[in-house]
Amino acid sequence: MVKITSAFDSGAIEVLSLDDPANIRLRLRKDNAADFHQWFHFRLTGAAGLPLRMVFENAATAAYADGWHGYRCVASYDRQNWFRIEGTRYHDGQLVVEHVPERDSVFYAYFEPYSHERHLDLVARAERSPQVRLRNLGLTVEGRDLDLVTVGGDAPGRMPVWIIARQHPGETMAEWFVEGLLERLLDPADPVARKLRAQAVLHIVPNMNPDGAVRGNLRTNAAGRNLNREWRAPDPVASPEVFLVRAEMERTGCGLFLDIHGDETLPYVFFSTAEEVPSFTAAAAAAQARFIEAFLAASPDFQTTEGYKPGRFGEELLTLASKWVANHFGCVSLTLEMPFKDNALLPDEAVGWNGARSKRLGAAMLDPILRHVATCSQPTLDSAILQETNT
Ligand code: ZN
Repeated sequence: MVKITSAFDSGAIEVLSLDDPANIRLRLRKDNAADFHQWFHFRLTGAAGLPLRMVFENAATAAYADGWHGYRCVASYDRQNWFRIEGTRYHDGQLVVEHVPERDSVFYAYFEPYSHERHLDLVARAERSPQVRLRNLGLTVEGRDLDLVTVGGDAPGRMPVWIIARQHPGETMAEWFVEGLLERLLDPADPVARKLRAQAVLHIVPNMNPDGAVRGNLRTNAAGRNLNREWRAPDPVASPEVFLVRAEMERTGCGLFLDIHGDETLPYVFFSTAEEVPSFTAAAAAAQARFIEAFLAASPDFQTTEGYKPGRFGEELLTLASKWVANHFGCVSLTLEMPFKDNALLPDEAVGWNGARSKRLGAAMLDPILRHVATCSQPTLDSAILQETNT
């Protein structure tokens, strides 16, 4: 007897019919307080060896229906190893996934999930480092902690660097990215990390939207707000996540900002840059170009040929985090996009783009960050490194 359940962390699916394993009828579930839908994550039991054909009937009304072209569903038996399903196709407005599970319990998802438990483990592990200060900036709409991990001390002259991830909760690759970045940043043996810890203070929000993440939302928080459209005027009640982070950024200042995302459609890693913000200067353009060049050197997964067309965000431009920050602080401020599908420049048939690859990309980001900090800061680094070694 085939069953489907989704009553767990980030679970999301609607089941219309399970009568025929060759025609399992499903619907993508909407965010809890908004109409966006594309994320799914569910468990199917009782079908080992059975040829399944799962039809997502409302795929055409998903937030980014174009994203289904060339997309392959991910699956896992042990929730550790996630693989792509070859028999995925988008046809006549429906996403069809054909799979013969090897086991009686199999999980299917839009992308490799990143659970709230894993988030709590991540911040707890980070907090054990003497380099880290873990702070709760306040509460989300549903009363979850908004965690801020700060690495490097508050000594004068250090550049404040801000990195936020997962404003869009279905973009789990963003928190995998932060996990990889944090692991390298806290590595006592890594020379790039040592220099960065000595010269900068890094404020990292691993998950901007824990409510949406637990609920299995694609794009919004528990109040139905798309947090990456809230930055011009965040609401302390409906979008406290942005309100709290923006207030802390005003307090610390910001010398570099990175907002980490996933893109449903483009099979590439790319930046959305800041040329279009009103206060963009020639100096900002030069600093942005240096940063991009350093990231190109650091990771062959990154490229600059493919990306968003100018004018994509229209009137909303300054409601987006990285655009608002670029305009307000005048610093290098970028949105990083990773693929839901695969990186077409460096494809992996078995897993596509996944958590492990997002982690390596996060680790590689330390190189351009250090280059940026070293170029823009006073050279107080030697004494700071000595200080760190002695503590
Ligand atoms: Zn996003």
